[in-house]
Amino acid sequence: MTTKISHWIDGRLVEGSSGRTSPVFNPATGEHIADVELASDAEVASVVASARTAAQSWKVSSMSQRASVLFAFREILHRRSDELAQIVTREHGKVLSDAAGEIARGLENIEFATSVPQLLMGGHSAQASRGVDVYSIRHSLGVVAGITPFNFPVMVPLWMCGTAIACGNAFVLKPSEKDPSASLFLAQLWQEAGLPDGVFSVINGDKAAVDALIDHQDVAALSFVGSTPVAKYIYESGTARGKRVQALGGAKNHMLVLPDADVDLAADAAVSAGYGAAGERCMAVSVVVAVGDVGDRLVDAIAKRLPNLKTGAGTDPASEMGPLITSQHRDRVAGYIDAGFSEGAVVVVDGREAGVPKEGFFLGATLLDQVEPGMSVYRDEIFGPVLSVVRRETFDEAIELINSNPFANGTAIFTRDGGAARKFEQSVDVGMVGINVAIPVPVAYYSFGGWKASLFGDNHMYGPEGVAFFSRGKVVTSRWPDPATSTIDLGFPRTR
Ligand code: NAD
Repeated sequence: MTTKISHWIDGRLVEGSSGRTSPVFNPATGEHIADVELASDAEVASVVASARTAAQSWKVSSMSQRASVLFAFREILHRRSDELAQIVTREHGKVLSDAAGEIARGLENIEFATSVPQLLMGGHSAQASRGVDVYSIRHSLGVVAGITPFNFPVMVPLWMCGTAIACGNAFVLKPSEKDPSASLFLAQLWQEAGLPDGVFSVINGDKAAVDALIDHQDVAALSFVGSTPVAKYIYESGTARGKRVQALGGAKNHMLVLPDADVDLAADAAVSAGYGAAGERCMAVSVVVAVGDVGDRLVDAIAKRLPNLKTGAGTDPASEMGPLITSQHRDRVAGYIDAGFSEGAVVVVDGREAGVPKEGFFLGATLLDQVEPGMSVYRDEIFGPVLSVVRRETFDEAIELINSNPFANGTAIFTRDGGAARKFEQSVDVGMVGINVAIPVPVAYYSFGGWKASLFGDNHMYGPEGVAFFSRGKVVTSRWPDPATSTIDLGFPRTR
């Protein structure tokens, strides 16, 4: 008997009635550990109805009440991080320290949201015109939904829900069906923190549930993180129905290394950013661009490090890299090693030959050299432990390569030259840039987002842009005239 994973509606676990489920695996053992229920349209309608009712009273809650719930949630989640990390590792496979890292980065967003009274502060202009004051206020949207990917089952929901709730909305989460348990744990913690029932809900499901959220007239906004084709679909169908949508897509992140860089430092960074979480991060480095004569030194330095990488179960403290999410995904990623070879890349290290556990969905680290843009290993988002090296003669050619890529999530430069770093920062067409920092995920008081095929919509995620996304502005123009001076004037109001 496998465990059933249900929904969280109106402050309690609700068993599904659609009769459809999807299997959840422990990727480190390959074991089928649970079945997650896949919501029907009626179940989506029921979660939205509960959220709609909750949003009516939550939107008029005081900001100090919201802040105190957020503070309480922050404390409880901080205290129970180890338990949550275990849940993440069991269904996702990432090593426990990495799971703890994603929880910590998610918590930053809750800490940011505790400042809700300042975040929602408007402006006030006294005497904008004679006897007239103008001021702005921000309102909640109502019911908002988050649709999240498998690779950050805690951090990505926390990117969205703290800000959405702080802004006075009711938030409905549709997590990935591959690792849904972390969401239900978060729901219980929200309740323990004093959040009224219905303000945070979880509806499990697949495309059918997402489509029902897109179609539902009471869902005002959709915040999505996942692959580019789905991001584009959700952006197009959500906006066509008049909703606000921010849809973050896939990535192909380049790390540019100049000849003056410290090669050991760059190689350590490339290995950490390329193979951490088995390459299943949207900010993973998947392409190293070696400029000029640094290529051979860098490829040797990276290759030398790979045999020491310990791949194993995420619960083993010695493991540095866990398994991939499913056996199908592991096979797909492994297929790119042959594809790279047949398209002309040099397989410097073949992850299929690494000593990885036989059970579970493991694949060792692969390094490909002499990769070129026409190859599928360069074009596609592989989302696994495969790092490609592209060589370019000059700095300008390297920047041109990055700017020609349709993805534009993150990028990094490794150099000792401040002028070169500044030129890179100014001329690269990518949303998040690291200077000697390989994974430049912005802190919570900035916002996160790529450009081009990595983000559809106008607002980046969390931080100030998250507040802008989850609230809407209103501007009030106010006058308290003396009735004795009242006259009729059909001209358009002037400010002088
Ligand atoms: P995915 O696109 O397959 O799924 C994401 C979510 O969309 C899940 O909740 C899933 O149930 C739902 N979904 C899947 N197919 C759908 C469809 N046809 N219609 C409607 N909904 C659908 O992504 P994934 O495999 O879970 O996650 C990995 C992807 O997410 C990678 O491409 C990665 O780069 C991307 N990602 C991007 C960021 C970012 O910030 N840009 C962050 C994390 C992950």
